[in-house]
Amino acid sequence: MDQIIRKKSRKKVSNSSSTAWIFDLDNTLYPEHCNLFAHIDIKMKAYITNLLGVDGDQAYKIQKDYFIRYGTTLRGLIEVHGVNPEDFMHFVHDIDLSPLKQDQELGRALSAIRGRKFIFTNGEARYAIRVLEKIGIEDQFDGIFDITAAGHIPKPNEVSYQNFIDHFGIDPKNAVMIEDMARNLAPAAALGMTTVWVKTRYEWGAMGYDAAHIDYETDHLVGWLSETLQT
Ligand SMILES: [Mg+2]
Repeated sequence: MDQIIRKKSRKKVSNSSSTAWIFDLDNTLYPEHCNLFAHIDIKMKAYITNLLGVDGDQAYKIQKDYFIRYGTTLRGLIEVHGVNPEDFMHFVHDIDLSPLKQDQELGRALSAIRGRKFIFTNGEARYAIRVLEKIGIEDQFDGIFDITAAGHIPKPNEVSYQNFIDHFGIDPKNAVMIEDMARNLAPAAALGMTTVWVKTRYEWGAMGYDAAHIDYETDHLVGWLSETLQT
């Protein structure tokens, strides 16, 4: 049963044309049960297995270790093994998107937003566009800031947030960031953004959770958007 959880927020979200809305992609704009990340995970493991000649269990350990230490598995592969990021991205994002469904409710909620809307993802733009097309919301956004635009410096590295807001001329004090990974909201809050944590059942989503950097939390993005945009 979907449930909207609303925190006592210190900040009001205003649906004005000057508010910038920043959305993460995976497990934020589509429900976690689509489980796309499981497919990307399998591809990452295969990539590491091929690259390092290790077995599946070792590859999995390396993958998770890099994810935790470097922010993304890719960042670790670049730093430690000099991997070509484009090669890696093409390989791991080449997955079946059939679990994704058109989401008209989400489309309507996004249409009601008056300000600019952006995608800020640790994935690549081509993959993001495929995902957005599958959900039917590809026309909703004013820009996508992907891992290539970020110079392969992933969230939650604060350098990436600064590059992102500079790139689109965003005033962070008038911005809302919506994300399923709690730790990725900490640098956003530090810049003065209002933060919305989309809760999932994945424990790594809650990694780095600190109530001090979360203004709102919900397990139902459309419900939260609808409620917020009405008030
Ligand atoms: Mg995500």
